Amino acid sequence: MISIVIPIYNEEQGLSLLYDRLTEAAVQWEEKFEVVLVDDGSSDSSNSIMRGFVENDDRFHLVELSRNFGHQGAISAGLEYARGDAVVVMDGDLQDPPEELPIFLDKWREGYQVVYAIRTERKEGLPKRMAYSAFYRFLAFISDIDIPLDSGDFALIDRSVVDVLKKELPENIRFVRGLRAYAGFRQIGIPYKRDERAAGEAKYTFRKLLILAMDGVFGFSTLPLRMATYVGLFISLLSFAVGLFFIVHRIFNFKVLGYSPEDTPGLASLAAGIYFLGGVILTFLGILGEYIGRVYIEVKRRPPYIVAATYGAVADGTARAPETGREERPATNKEDEQG
Ligand code: UDP
Ligand code: MG
Repeated sequence: MISIVIPIYNEEQGLSLLYDRLTEAAVQWEEKFEVVLVDDGSSDSSNSIMRGFVENDDRFHLVELSRNFGHQGAISAGLEYARGDAVVVMDGDLQDPPEELPIFLDKWREGYQVVYAIRTERKEGLPKRMAYSAFYRFLAFISDIDIPLDSGDFALIDRSVVDVLKKELPENIRFVRGLRAYAGFRQIGIPYKRDERAAGEAKYTFRKLLILAMDGVFGFSTLPLRMATYVGLFISLLSFAVGLFFIVHRIFNFKVLGYSPEDTPGLASLAAGIYFLGGVILTFLGILGEYIGRVYIEVKRRPPYIVAATYGAVADGTARAPETGREERPATNKEDEQG
């Protein structure tokens, strides 16, 4: 069986089309499947629509989060509760077309454990496309692992890798596409055209996108920290040369650009130096702060999502729960398991 994990945040306008496109495309899959919808704290009617799917179609299941935890948290929840031998992650706005899945499945049957989609074409505006493109190239340059260019979360992940993501990579700040690359195994990229959103507006605000980008950079690279050392060294060398020049200048008292040391008050060079150094120091303090903040978040061990309820038959979902107190876990199966 394969599982399709779909995070949903206020998608009431597109849900019925999603249902139709999915179930129609599924005819081609030659594989038993389940759909694990994750309600990421929707405030519109998405939840009741999805519960309708679950009631009428026993291939559909719903994991309801206690509030909005964000796309990456919702995907992590879906991976936790999916039961398939392979799990496909896709967006709920049909930007990731379900009709592409036969290609994914072919590669999976060939023996690839991760089949990820590479966006060759995007339908967003030019500034957004440029920002995405620049970001993925910057991330690939800066990160310690090979994160494939222009690949988002749309992917098929074999059970063995899903288990690695669940159990071996339990970090709280989830940058799923990075963790997926980190996991290794046999991976292959499949080019595809990213469609336009079927309905509604993007649920990723600029702020959420920025946070995602920073999670990618700071979560998968320590180069920004090392930059402090490099920039510091460079400035020290430069200062040494400049200092040497001023000493020589003072001793021999020659004119440079019409100035001799006597009539140079030196305010401009001093001020420029101080502001420049102040800027560099503050920048690296900020970068230090980013890492310290992340260490703080990770040591608190707060879960990346909290499940309020599940509907339909889903996996145990207890891998993340502490050994003791499983009974107190908020997750409750409101419906009987249907096998
Ligand atoms: N999404 C979510 N939680 C959020 C934001 C988005 O579960 O806080 C879901 C959303 O419903 C959609 C998917 O994540 O199914 C991708 O979101 P969106 O289309 O806004 O992102 P974009 O395509 O602009 O990157
Ligand atoms: Mg989208």
